[in-house]
Amino acid sequence: MSNINLSEIKVIKIDIIFKGGLMERNSLMKSVEKDWEKFLLIPISEKLQYFSRDGRIYDCLFAQQLDRDILTHLFKVADVLRKITKNKEGMRFANGLMSHKRSMLYFVQPSTRTFLSFLNACHILGIKTGEIRDTSISSELKGETPEDSVRTFSSYVDLIIMRHPLPNFVEKSAWLMNKTKRPVPIINGGSGKDQHPTQALLDIYTLYRSFNGEIDGKTIAMVGDLKRGRTVRSLSYLMKNYRNMKLIYISPKEFAMEKDILDFLKRHNISYYETDNFEEGIREADAIYMTRIQDEHDKNGESNKVDISAFCLNGNHLNKIKKDSIIMHPLPRRQEISVEVDDDPRAMYWRQERNGMWVRAALISYIFGCDEDILKYK
Ligand code: ASP
Repeated sequence: MSNINLSEIKVIKIDIIFKGGLMERNSLMKSVEKDWEKFLLIPISEKLQYFSRDGRIYDCLFAQQLDRDILTHLFKVADVLRKITKNKEGMRFANGLMSHKRSMLYFVQPSTRTFLSFLNACHILGIKTGEIRDTSISSELKGETPEDSVRTFSSYVDLIIMRHPLPNFVEKSAWLMNKTKRPVPIINGGSGKDQHPTQALLDIYTLYRSFNGEIDGKTIAMVGDLKRGRTVRSLSYLMKNYRNMKLIYISPKEFAMEKDILDFLKRHNISYYETDNFEEGIREADAIYMTRIQDEHDKNGESNKVDISAFCLNGNHLNKIKKDSIIMHPLPRRQEISVEVDDDPRAMYWRQERNGMWVRAALISYIFGCDEDILKYK
C-alpha cells in the first residue's frame, strides 16, 4: 500500500480544478480587456452607434452625442416638465410616467449636486432609486471587480447613473453592458477628468434660458483649471452645435486647456483664444464660466505652486463686465467667486443647479421614449 493519504489527493485535485478555473477566467478576462482596449481607440464619432438604439441615445456618455436637434428637443421637454409639475395634477402625471422603472445611482466619487439632481430627476418621473456611494461598503471590498459590480446592479434596475474616478470606466461599463443579454442604459454623471456630458447639457440649457433661446454668436469665457476640469471640456464640445461661437480660455499657463480640445475647435472652425489676462478676457464675454482648481488630480502638489488669485471674480469686476452677461459655475466654488457676487442678477450658478434637475429628467424621459408624452400633456 502506498502511504499517500486520500485527503491529500482530494486537496491536490481541488487545487488543480481551482487553478484551472482561475487560469481560464484570467485568460477570458485578458481577451475582454484586449477587445476593450481596441474599442477604446476607435474615434468617438465612429462608435456612437454602439451606444444608440432605434435612432436615439441609449447610453449617454459623451457630450459629442448631443447634437443641436437633440439639445433643442431636450430644452423643450425640460421647459414643459417644469411648467406642468407646478401643480399637483401635472406632478401626478409626471410621477406616473416611469413608475414601473428602477434606477441605480453608483456615485463612488464625491458628488452633491449631480447626485441630488439625478435623484430628484428620477423621482419627478416616478422612478424608484437605489444608491451606492462608497465602494468600502460594497462587495468591491471582498475583491469584486467594479465591472462585476456594475453587472450586478443591472440585475436589479432599468437604468444606471454613474460617477467614477477611473478614466473611461463609465464608457467601459456601457460597452460591457451592451454585450450582455440584459443591457440597461448607462448615464455618465462625471468620469475621471475627461467628460461630464450632463453638466454640459445643463450648462447649455442655462445659456438657452438666459439668452431667450439665442445661443448662436455668443462669446463664452471659461476660467480656471481648464486642463483638468471635465465640465469645461464637455461644454467646449457642445460649441460645435452653434454658429459663430467664440471661446476665451482664461487660465494660468500651468492649467491651460488641453490640445485635444483646441484641435477639436480648429476642426470645427470654432474661434477661440487663450489668455492669462483675466480682466481683459471677461470684459467682452456674454457668459463667464468660472471653475475651481481641480487639486484632487494633483500628482505632486502642483496646485499649491500656482497663484490663482488673479483668476477670481469679485464685486469690483461687476461693473467691468457686460450688463447683459451671465456668470456661471458648475460648483462647488472656493475663492474664485466671492459671495458678494451672489446677489447680482447676472449670477446664474444657483439657477444652473435647478436647470440641471429638469434637463436631466428630460434626458431620462428621452432615453426611455416618454418625452413625447410630456410634450403632448395638456
Ligand atoms: N461638480 C463639477 C464636477 O463634478 C465641477 C467640480 O467639481 O469642480 O466636475
